[in-house]
This record gives sequence, structure tokens and C-alpha cells, in this order.
Amino acid sequence: MIYLDNAATTKPCEACINATAQTMREQWANPSALYRFGIDAARLLRKCRQSVADAMGAPTDCIHFTACGTEADNWAIFSTAERFGKRGKHIITTAIEHSAVLKPIKKLEEQGFEVTYLQPDHMGRISLERLQNALRKDTILVSIMMVNNESGAVMPIEKMAKLTHRICPNAIFHTDAVQGFFKVPFRANSLGADLISVSGHKVHAAKGIGALYIRAGLKLPAYLLGGGQENGLRSGTEGLPQIAGFAAACTEQLPKRMENIARQNKLKAILQDGLRKIDGVELIGAQEAPHIVNLAVKGLRSQGLLNALQDREICVSAGSACSKGHRSHVLTAMGVDPELIDGSVRVSLSSETTMQEIEAFLQAMPEVIASLQ
Ligand code: PLP
Repeated sequence: MIYLDNAATTKPCEACINATAQTMREQWANPSALYRFGIDAARLLRKCRQSVADAMGAPTDCIHFTACGTEADNWAIFSTAERFGKRGKHIITTAIEHSAVLKPIKKLEEQGFEVTYLQPDHMGRISLERLQNALRKDTILVSIMMVNNESGAVMPIEKMAKLTHRICPNAIFHTDAVQGFFKVPFRANSLGADLISVSGHKVHAAKGIGALYIRAGLKLPAYLLGGGQENGLRSGTEGLPQIAGFAAACTEQLPKRMENIARQNKLKAILQDGLRKIDGVELIGAQEAPHIVNLAVKGLRSQGLLNALQDREICVSAGSACSKGHRSHVLTAMGVDPELIDGSVRVSLSSETTMQEIEAFLQAMPEVIASLQ
């Protein structure tokens, strides 16, 4: 199988699998228990938190584990609204966020918040000017993703966070970095965002684990009430096996991060060059992130392309895996021709993607197109 759908999920690495299995076999105590077995589990939890914090360039205590990127996004948005909703009712986000951000914000809109949706340009980029024009005295939250999961556009988060805090010193800046983690180098300590969401399964860890970075000193209300885990903010016995796997994946990738980004950029350039030479193929969006290439073949439908590629054991996705069956809101906001949207296919790489896989895909594409035409 040639797996080119890494923006949807990645294959867990051996380090993750081993750490998860070892934790399940040997360190399955409750980290809140007061005997040595539990204290050892708590120590492992602390070590894992530190590994994820190191990978995000954050202080250890700022990392809070969640069940997924979606939960981190929901937590960031709902808790900010709860804490600061009396101070102001204005929220800024973009029209191209993942539904894990758009849906919670839509719910707040229904509850009386006013929302400005920043529109992207044709490449999927959001400009600083648009953000600047949207910021108001009563803005309490700005939520802008680091990398768009369909266009591969990379947003200037550091500049956006700085601009937000300069114009609205009390506003909270959240970034959904689920597609940016290990793809766009950043350090939470210097990025300037107050809240950062990441997800394990996009970085070769298991599904069912994510994290929310909360800037030191920012006091948010608890998201889940109960036993007081995660610094009293997100109760529930910690999923130590997934956490250990996530930490192991982070530890393994951190030293190779720049090398992996460079390798993926190189493969992406070869893929884009090859695609440009195939009759009828159009590339869509900025494709600045090292792992995302979006393309369409006019006159062909995504599902047809997907099926024909699948027959050749090649996995790609139709736009975003999370928006199955709907015309992509991201490509629509970018003003892409609806006919192209309906034929769009996302090819996404990881640090494990090989040159042979890219070549096999490029070889298959003209045959697939010819067979469908
Ligand atoms: N945000 C973005 C940009 C994503 O691409 C995804 C998943 O595709 C999510 C959030 C949701 O993450 P999770 O699947 O961990 O809930």
C-alpha cells in the first residue's frame, strides 16, 4: 500500500507502539494512587509531559493532555468565552478553520457572541491586514489555524499573535496547530499564542491523544469536572499509555525535525513538478506546508479518482477527511471553481514517505486519468 493521506492520520511509529505497550504491561497504575506503583506512574506522566513540552518549546506545566485535537480546540474556545465573555462578545476566526474550531464558535454565535470570519485569498492565505481591520475593543478571542489542512497554507501566527496583543492586550490568541506540529517549526515560548492545540495521531502517535498548551499565568475555568487531574482543569484518569506513546513519538522526532521537514519539502517539490506535467491536473492553494498537495482534474470527480487510485493500492483523500460528503468550505472560501472542488484530491506526506511512493503515484496518475476519461 502507498499511503499518501498523512494529513488525515499517520502511522504510529515503533517508539510510540513500544512505549504504549510497555506502559500497559508495566505501568498501568493510576497516577493519582499514593503507593509506589502509582507514584511511579505519576513520575512517568511528568516525564511524558516534559517530552511533549520540549517538542512544543513550552514549560512543562503549560501542557495539558486531552483526548484529541478536537477537544483541545473546544476547550480553548469554550473556556475563553466562559472566562472573558463578560468583558466582550466579539470573536475573530477564519472561514477556513477545521470544524473542531468552527462548530464551537458557531455555538457561541448562537449564544449571542458576534463572530468575524476572516476570508482567505485565492491561495488560502489570511492577511495580517484583514486581522488588523477586524480587531475591536470588545474582541476577547482570536482563533487562527497554523496550517490549513486542505490548502497547506501556513499562517503568520507569530505576527498575528503580536498584532492581536498590541491592538487588544486583553484578547486571547488561540492557534490550532494540529497540522503545524512538527511541520512548521515553532516554540510556544516565543510564538506569542496564549493557547495552542496539537494532536498525537498527526505526528506518528496513537489516535485518542492530544494536548492544549495554556500560557503560564492564563487562568481558564476547568473543562471537565471530577477528580482534578491536569492541574484541576481536565479531570479524568490520565490515558498514560497513549500519553507515553505520544511522548515517545515527540522525543524520537524532535532531533530530526528540521531534517524531516527538508525531506518532505523536497519530495513535495518533486510531486508538484511531476503533477504540473500531467495534462489536465491543476494544483490548488498555497501548499506551503511540507506535507500537503491539493490537486484537481477538471471534469473528474474526487471519488472516481480516489477509487481508481485505491485500485492501485494508493490512499489519498478527497479534500478533508473530516468533511466527507460536503463540498469543502475551505476551497469554497478560497473562491475555487466548484467543478474543481468536486474533483479535488489531497495528497499528504509524512516523514516516512519515500521517493518510490511519490514516483509510483506520479506514474499512476496519467493512467488513472485516462481510464476515467
Ligand atoms: N484541526 C485540524 C487543522 C485538523 O486537521 C484536525 C484533524 O484532521 C483536527 C483539528 C482534529 O484533530 P483530532 O482528529 O485529533 O481531533
